[in-house]
Amino acid sequence: MGKGKQYFCEYCEKSFADNPTSRRNHLRGLQHQRMKNLHYESVQDAATILAVESSKNACHMFQQSGHCKFGITCKYSHMTRQQRNELEKQVGAETEARRQRQLKNQREPSLDEWLAKRAKKSPSDDRSVTDETSQRSMYCLPSWLEGITNLPPSVLPPPPEAFQDLQPLEWG
Ligand SMILES: [Zn+2]
Ligand SMILES: [Zn+2]
Repeated sequence: MGKGKQYFCEYCEKSFADNPTSRRNHLRGLQHQRMKNLHYESVQDAATILAVESSKNACHMFQQSGHCKFGITCKYSHMTRQQRNELEKQVGAETEARRQRQLKNQREPSLDEWLAKRAKKSPSDDRSVTDETSQRSMYCLPSWLEGITNLPPSVLPPPPEAFQDLQPLEWG
């Protein structure tokens, strides 16, 4: 520190003097490219990696010797059969997980969504909401009657719509 501004590269977790030349040299460096690729591969999902690797031709050097001097920066694919199988399994699991998540979202809206819907329906006046709630609870079944089917209609609470059409009576 104290030697002027330092540039910290998040991919390489390395800092160096912040000037155009050293920055450019670093960004062009093989080590940096490698770390950057590694970073993006770790955040990519299996489907993306599989698609990218499948679009490349196999690296002959890597296939024959198990080594390639280009490493992760090689433009040919270093994916082995086993890695491919594992990726395909992972893609299947990710797709299934995504599908389950979507199904779940369709079934139960989140609390935020529910509140937003409710806010749209009822007027913003807080008092009217409270009134509505207390009015409704007057016509609730006592808990010991809940779960009993085939109750006579006279015992059942009236539906809330029953009061909507009532006009205030005028007494002469
Ligand atoms: Zn770097
Ligand atoms: Zn290679």
